[in-house]
Amino acid sequence: MQPPASDTAASALLEGLDSWREMPAAQQPDWPDPAVLADVRAELAGYPPLVFAGECDQLKERLAAAARGEAFLLQGGDCAETFGEATADRIRNKIKTVLQMAVVLTYGASLPVVKVGRMAGQYSKPRTTPTEIRDGVELPAYRGDAVNDYAFDAAARTPDPHRLLRAYHTSSATLNLLRAFTKGGFADLRQVHEWNRGFVTSPANARYEVLARDIDRAMRFMAACGGDSEALRTVDFYSSHEALLLEYERALTRIDSRTGTPYNVSAHLLWIGERTRQLDGAHVDLMSRVRNPIAVKLGPSATPEEVLALIERLDPAGEPGRLTFVSRMGADRVAEVLPPLVEAVRVAGKPVLWVCDPMHGNTFESGNGYKTRRFDDVMAEVRGFFEVHAGLGTVPGGLHVELTGDDVTECLGGSEQIHDGDLATRYETRCDPRLNHQQSLELAFLVAQMLGER
Ligand code: PEP
Ligand code: MN
Repeated sequence: MQPPASDTAASALLEGLDSWREMPAAQQPDWPDPAVLADVRAELAGYPPLVFAGECDQLKERLAAAARGEAFLLQGGDCAETFGEATADRIRNKIKTVLQMAVVLTYGASLPVVKVGRMAGQYSKPRTTPTEIRDGVELPAYRGDAVNDYAFDAAARTPDPHRLLRAYHTSSATLNLLRAFTKGGFADLRQVHEWNRGFVTSPANARYEVLARDIDRAMRFMAACGGDSEALRTVDFYSSHEALLLEYERALTRIDSRTGTPYNVSAHLLWIGERTRQLDGAHVDLMSRVRNPIAVKLGPSATPEEVLALIERLDPAGEPGRLTFVSRMGADRVAEVLPPLVEAVRVAGKPVLWVCDPMHGNTFESGNGYKTRRFDDVMAEVRGFFEVHAGLGTVPGGLHVELTGDDVTECLGGSEQIHDGDLATRYETRCDPRLNHQQSLELAFLVAQMLGER
């Protein structure tokens, strides 16, 4: 896109960035004091960018490659990050887990893997109900650390705009560590064994060790041939979160000096959730005006007409890499509801990237009251997603998962066979259940196999 030609064009562009204020905006907190919110907004608007527009463009190119089947997207991290868990150990374990999964996928499928964390900004959550009732007491629902506190008392649950500032600073600290880990030698492929250290021994880890030995041997071979490339020493790791809190996202939207166009500089990739993808809503409008790569979640109620209209709103020019659709249909629905959507996009000739989120359509409450998912359902949805694309001759381009590098017990099954009764052992999520380290690796091995067969 060219810079705006005149001052009038530039001011129209800026004005457009606030059009969403006149539109219905789902899932926004009831901020109690407009004056405090205005102060916070002004402060945020003065902070430096967390990511650079050029990096967003680079990610866009890689997503375009994934849409063509020349790369594969791996996007993973917590359902909801919390301020308290933004510690070196937790962040490192998550990065290691994603790096390990990426190596398994790259090796198994001989495809470059585009690595994106649900990290460094995933501090707000859409909720099914605006309030929560416990023992007859009704309070605002927990909407993520960027909005209110998880503790169940009136003060803690009252939305506090100052939390948006903390969300920015915690994102900044997390990104700093992420950049250090991925550029400072830790992500060097010669460390491929190192990433497996510190995790409990498991069949998935053992399988990973075998693969890591193969990679080691190949690396030594390449070095001996003089092919010791820089590309093996550092990794590009991008950040993403749901663009939910419009005041935050607007304050972090800036005009890029290179192109004179707006970018959201709070993350490389932003996505619009299943609950906020209304065509005439505020979220779609704000995201239509920034030049980052954008993703949209699609649940089982999405229609082909809606999907084509979303393309028209978010990517009218058909720019490769601009738009990703994240399918989250549920294992038992994917074969029936996904094909008409993919087919409509294929017929329209639009270059979108199709990604599978096998988590959000497969959540249920266990007999003992935990929100959970079955590893087998997760796998079944991924398999269904691949089958739909195989049937239509389209590209299954990526995987979007909720995971942690820690040994939590939040999802059922996997080869360590977590049962209902085990959920209580280490159930730590503030929102949706995540695959633990071992389940994440297992998933990567299974998906690598499917990719290899593609
Ligand atoms: C999420 O990604 O955590 C989420 C809430 O997903 P969805 O919008 O698909 O329900
Ligand atoms: Mn979630």
